[in-house]
Parts: sequence; structure tokens; C-alpha cells
Amino acid sequence: MHPFALERPRDLRSALALRAQAGRNDIATEYLGGGTDMVQLLQENVRSPERLVSLGSVLDKRIEASPQGLRIGGGATMAETAAHPEVATRFPLIAQALLASASPQVRNQATMGGNLLQRTRCPYFRDTGYSACNKRKPGSGCAAIGGENRWHAVLGGSEHCIAVHPSDLAVALVALDATVHVQGLSGERAVALADFHRLPGSTPHIEAELRPGEAVTAISVPEHPVNRRAHYLKVRDRASFEFAVVSAAVALDLQDGGRIREARVALGGVGTKPWRLPKVEAALAGAGLQRDALRRAAALAAQGAQGRGHNDFKIELMQRAIVRAVEAAGGVA
Ligand code: SF4
Repeated sequence: MHPFALERPRDLRSALALRAQAGRNDIATEYLGGGTDMVQLLQENVRSPERLVSLGSVLDKRIEASPQGLRIGGGATMAETAAHPEVATRFPLIAQALLASASPQVRNQATMGGNLLQRTRCPYFRDTGYSACNKRKPGSGCAAIGGENRWHAVLGGSEHCIAVHPSDLAVALVALDATVHVQGLSGERAVALADFHRLPGSTPHIEAELRPGEAVTAISVPEHPVNRRAHYLKVRDRASFEFAVVSAAVALDLQDGGRIREARVALGGVGTKPWRLPKVEAALAGAGLQRDALRRAAALAAQGAQGRGHNDFKIELMQRAIVRAVEAAGGVA
């Protein structure tokens, strides 16, 4: 691990100023939230900043529910958010996704803002013994495309990167039309979560719509009839602690008689960003919960999917995950 200076600013404005000052002086500087991902990256020499600016004690940690929706401070931990009674009852998709993530120890430490910015689990990215990784070293190539790619994306990839976005939380939030609030020295901005994570294109090292020096300060989720009837299904190699091979986040508003009035569907483990499925949602609107109708709608998720060999199985698996998650959300599974 390279040595670095750790700054503990008194407030958010001081943290933003430290980061801006470092940028002007060309000092490689990064923010540190709960540190659960950053410490691994430091230990593995994937990141080697000269200075870390801790946000742990300066970010808002409040979790507030109102008739208009939910607001979660960027410094709230995953565990605090999952255990909040209003999150558990009014936004169960968020609580389920959080509780399916990581381990209790990690959830006690990791922040909500940091969760959205965690780096990919692509083994070629995490192991500096491999020289070809455009995300870690722009222009160096992609070892995964012709290599072992069982864990990689079938949606949203490019010839420069096929790494999966690893967050369960982001998949639930994108299904619920969440907004990310960010702040820099020049002010605050709100970005729809659907637009926050970038497709890799030719610049996979740029992962989020953040301007230099901006920090994630809060997440908000609007009130909506789909919020309460939801299911997060996570398929993984081991139940105790693992990232998703495939996950499906589903939220439903049902009519009397059980037909679907509105559906929200997003996938994890298969896309280079949290992957919302508007065509599947449109096909589910007005449908019943019979297996045949659900399978026809879920098949639309495969449009544009591209397997790379070892990950071909995900294309069928993600359709089955959608069907099972809709059935669970609808109460027929
Ligand atoms: Fe690097 Fe992306 Fe290729 Fe993985 S998939 S080796 S992160 S460029």
C-alpha cells in the first residue's frame, strides 16, 4: 500500500475545499466514505492517492420519510437504512436489496453514498498483475473480453469494457426512480439515478456523472403506489456473502383482481450500470400474473444482450429471475 495523508475536515465545505485545493495543486486526492471498498483498493494497489479526505463525520446521516417520499443522507450506513422502520414498510425494495448485500459488518460501516460509487468486482481490475484493464489504466485493453468473463455484463458493454456494476442498492433505487444529490464548491445538483452511472463506451474509467470535487450528499425516492409491493431477488454463488450473478428488482401496483397496473423492473449482475427495463415494464402493464404472460414480458429483457462465452447463461437466467421476482412481488410465488 502506498503511503497517503488522511484529512479529517470539520464540515462538508472544508472537505470540498480540501479536494478542490488538491486538484489545483495536482495532488492525487480522493474522498473516503465508510472505506469498505476503498481500503481494499488501497491494499491491492489499485488506487494509490496521495491524500484521502474523510467524509465520515461531515456527511448528513439522517433518514427522513414524508408523504412525498424518502430522503437518505449520503453518510447514513447501509445497516441504519435497512433497519429504519419507514424504509422497511414503505420502501421494502431498498431494505431487501441492502440486506442482500455484503455482510453485517460491512453494512454497519459502508455508507449509502459510497455504495453507489463502489468499484467493479472484475478480477482483472482488482489484480494489478494483469496489465490490460481500460478501467484501471485507460488505453491498456480489456483482459476480460477474451478471458474469463463468467461474472461480466451481457447488457451495456463496449469493446473497451464489460464490467458489471456491483451495487444491489443501485438496482433497487433505479427501479424506484431515485435521485442522487451531489454537492461541490460551486453548489448542489440533483441527478436522476438512471443517468448517474455511465455506460463504459470508450471511457470506462469515468463511471459516474460527477464533476471534479463533487460528493454524493443524499439520495431521494419519490412516493409512488409501486413502492410497497416489491421483491428483490438475488442469485449468487453462495448465500452468505457474495455479489450478484443476476439480480432482479421488481415493484408492482396491482389492480383489483390482480392484474398489473404498473410495473418497475431493473436488473443487477448483468449490466455495466444498474439496468432498468422499460420494454418489460410496458409489456407487464395490464397483464395478469400467469407464468406465460410473465415469460413473454421477461423475454424482452434479452433484446440487445450479448454474451461473451462464459457469461452466456446470464441471458436466460435474468429472464427467469424477472419472472420469479414478479411472482414474488405479486404474491403468487
Ligand atoms: Fe478492466 Fe472493464 Fe475489462 Fe474488467 S471488463 S478488465 S474492468 S476494462
